[in-house]
Amino acid sequence: MLRSLEIPDPFQTFVSKKYANAKGYVHDFFTGEWSYSCSTCKEDLSGPSRKIMTKIRLFHTRNECLGGY
Ligand SMILES: [Zn+2]
Repeated sequence: MLRSLEIPDPFQTFVSKKYANAKGYVHDFFTGEWSYSCSTCKEDLSGPSRKIMTKIRLFHTRNECLGGY
């Protein structure tokens, strides 16, 4: 199972988030995770680092938003 398919922790919606300087990534100060809301389908994705977040985002865009193209 991919991280991007995990159900988001409800606690995350209550903690303050600091906006990253690139691509709409949001860094969760408390959990140390990065999250990103897909601009196409509005799905929330999250990852342990910005580098992995980028991989998840690209994978999501390619395989889920674009239907496998
Ligand atoms: Zn999407």
